[in-house]
Amino acid sequence: MRETEPASIPDGTGQAWRRLVATARRTHDEGLVVGTSGNVSVRVGDTVLVTPSGVPYDRLGPRDLVGVGLDGRRLLGTAEPTSELPLHLAVYRATGARAVVHTHAVHATAVSTLVDELPPVHYMTAALGGPVRVAPYAAYGTPELAGATLAALEGRSACLLRNHGTVAYGEDLDQAYDRTAQLEWMCRLWLLASSVPGRTPALLTPAQLAETAGRLRRYGRRTGG
Ligand code: 13P
Ligand code: ZN
Repeated sequence: MRETEPASIPDGTGQAWRRLVATARRTHDEGLVVGTSGNVSVRVGDTVLVTPSGVPYDRLGPRDLVGVGLDGRRLLGTAEPTSELPLHLAVYRATGARAVVHTHAVHATAVSTLVDELPPVHYMTAALGGPVRVAPYAAYGTPELAGATLAALEGRSACLLRNHGTVAYGEDLDQAYDRTAQLEWMCRLWLLASSVPGRTPALLTPAQLAETAGRLRRYGRRTGG
């Protein structure tokens, strides 16, 4: 993967860039975006590396690295940063995010046109902080979309963007990606369950989600040893 790493960049940034490229390619390869849709970013110290605007992920090369400060000032590279830079920076400034993934995942985008909140059909709702909200529509790349996204993310690690797609953040790229994939899967599940004629899916209560949130804090942890 050295071909994705530019010649002179600060320590740690090269590895972060390679991981960012791998995550962006994964969103495409696993069907969460089509063409040059979507964008990915990762925070290294006070520098945010972002995917460039309009470049197919399989063509990302050394010239495409872009690093900006939290204020949007360019620090690294010459490529045009993603058009959703205001959204990514707003999430970093307002939360503890270390990575942000934005996709146009098809089931999630379908759900964004139907409801204001994804009904809690599955306990993994708790892993995203609670029922996932839909941010009102605003044109892509605008400060209005960034503001609507932040409001929808209050107390959550993911949200839907009406008539557009998904946003998820995490402690690292893998977590932001996994949350995106979980959200897309839950949207697919709800669409499937709610499309059965004459039946309505059972939903989880706030108490059931709170109980699951507690259990998930221990999930995957080794006991003893
Ligand atoms: P960029 O190619 O500028 O990242 O835009 C894609 C996108 O999804 C805009 O919302
Ligand atoms: Zn988009």
